[in-house]
Amino acid sequence: MSKPIIVLLSNALRLADNAALSEAVSSGAPVIPVFIFDEQSPKVRPLGAASKWWLLQSLSNLSSRLKAMGSMLVVRRGVAAKTVQELVEETDAGAVHVMRGYTPSARALEEQLHEIYADTDIRIRRFAGNLLIEPEAVRTKTGNPYTVFSPFWRAASVLIDTVAPQPTPTKLLAPKDWPANDGVESLGLEPQPAYWAEPIAEAWVPGEAAALDRLRSFLDGPVLDYKAARDFPAIDATSALSPYLAFGEIGPRTIWWHTKLQMNANESITKGAAHFLRELGWREFSSHLLFNQPHMQSEPMRQQFRDFPWIEGEGDFLTAWQKGLTGFPIVDAGMRQLWQTGWMHNRVRMIVASFLVKDLLWHWREGETWFWDTLVDADFGNNIASWQWVAGCGADAAPYFRIFNPITQGEKFDPKGDYVRRYVPELADMPNNYIHKPFEAPVGELQMAGVKLGSTYPKPIVNRKIAREKALAALASIKKPD
Ligand SMILES: Cc1cc2nc3c(=O)[nH]c(=O)nc-3n(C[C@H](O)[C@H](O)[C@H](O)COP(=O)(O)OP(=O)(O)OC[C@H]3O[C@@H](n4cnc5c(N)ncnc54)[C@H](O)[C@@H]3O)c2cc1C
Repeated sequence: MSKPIIVLLSNALRLADNAALSEAVSSGAPVIPVFIFDEQSPKVRPLGAASKWWLLQSLSNLSSRLKAMGSMLVVRRGVAAKTVQELVEETDAGAVHVMRGYTPSARALEEQLHEIYADTDIRIRRFAGNLLIEPEAVRTKTGNPYTVFSPFWRAASVLIDTVAPQPTPTKLLAPKDWPANDGVESLGLEPQPAYWAEPIAEAWVPGEAAALDRLRSFLDGPVLDYKAARDFPAIDATSALSPYLAFGEIGPRTIWWHTKLQMNANESITKGAAHFLRELGWREFSSHLLFNQPHMQSEPMRQQFRDFPWIEGEGDFLTAWQKGLTGFPIVDAGMRQLWQTGWMHNRVRMIVASFLVKDLLWHWREGETWFWDTLVDADFGNNIASWQWVAGCGADAAPYFRIFNPITQGEKFDPKGDYVRRYVPELADMPNNYIHKPFEAPVGELQMAGVKLGSTYPKPIVNRKIAREKALAALASIKKPD
């Protein structure tokens, strides 16, 4: 019998479309599926609370599936490189397979493993498949990485192979002896206190099977109107696949393949489906940016923004924003959707982010950190790149100071106020023409709707006209954007 192969599933919690696993299975060697929970390695960014909730469900799900196949998910807690070494020793493994990752900690781990096992018989093999296109594979004519999305996607999208994803293996050969398994319960992922995650649990079903179901139901319906409807937060018009992608419960190639198949079978969805794939391209672009410009992890991509006079630290306005108590209904609805469901609609993410960094002038890092803690789809690259984009210091193709107006944005994308009414129930009876600006409503209208500003619903925490002038003055204080 050949030596077992350790398959690290840490950044790809799936059995299908997982080259690290399928290559191990097809080698005929015994397979040891492993998840390592590492909160100690220097480059690791510890998971936020909402992500921990998701991870707990996801690992339990994966563990049951592997058990049903006569295998096991070996769960260990510790410094990843050291834990791999221990596992190799315990099992006498001949190889370690890993799906390629693009975060600083994933990159560091790959490097460490290659170093540790450089002069040994133990093979470290990494496999692509967590992105559609590797971050080094696309370059401008001058040989540089891209910094603007449209040309990036024009170049990248034509390089993507449309190949059927690897199916779920039917059988995993078990090793003669299993290494010690700490079990999912040992990781301390349970929410504290337990009740805060209850609404999130009502909103989501984590796991690989649920991800595929969601993709199928999206492609059977909403994809048709995706292009037009994706900006309206009251409608379930988007795929909501982001948390599944963030945990690797579905691979982007699976999404690409099924979407292309559906496009071939049904021409009427072409417009919506092409736009959907383009949005998936933004995920690729975020990884391309963060991989090629690692300074973006902590600093603005546009260097002149280093001197931008952001506000940092604790403060009442930051708390009001986090709790959805700013007095601007679309902002408050978004922040409450985030708190209640662990997710927020993309259009509203842009509005609330712009409000924090442009109207309140808080550092984008504060918003990014709050999102990291509260989103079930918190994603290293997407979150940082998106926050920098909104803050104007990232890869915005129009390098002028874009300031989203929460009132006109609300009126345009939530015209009847359905979204606001759902998440800000104290405004449920406001008429449509004041739902996004209750502070402009005549006293009689407020009384009829049962709204008392400053008591049942906050007064606006900023004067937007003054805030806008302050923001423009702050921008003028740094050098002109390049
Ligand atoms: C301030 C801010 C922070 C964000 N933080 C995150 C984050 O932590 N994690 C995250 O996955 N997305 C983040 N996004 C991007 C985007 O809002 C979400 O990916 C999207 O709302 C997820 O919903 P969906 O799966 O229904 O998207 P769909 O519209 O169905 O799109 C399909 C997939 O494409 C990708 N995608 C879509 N839009 C974007 C985008 N603008 N940037 C990058 N990828 C995109 C996602 O993987 C998404 O699941 C952020 C956006 C903003 C403005």
